[in-house]
Amino acid sequence: MFEDQDKAKRVIKQFTQAKYELPTMIDCACSRRIPIRFMYKCYYCGEYFCEKCAEVHFGKSRKDYKAEKVKCVPVKTKEKK
Ligand SMILES: [Zn+2]
Ligand SMILES: [Zn+2]
Repeated sequence: MFEDQDKAKRVIKQFTQAKYELPTMIDCACSRRIPIRFMYKCYYCGEYFCEKCAEVHFGKSRKDYKAEKVKCVPVKTKEKK
């Protein structure tokens, strides 16, 4: 396609980025369309929710969570070798 192999690789990479690295928009149950990075995916049912719907789906707001004074359980990080 291109004579320059490095250019060919770069163009293919850019094409992929342009195609897949756009902000992916997800339709929430409340019919709002939100960028995926601002949504919360339920661990159990796999559905994505906007911030407002997440409070309802997960059963409590962040304010409720803080008031409970129960912490998220830390996950062990892998030791570097
Ligand atoms: Zn929503
Ligand atoms: Zn769920």
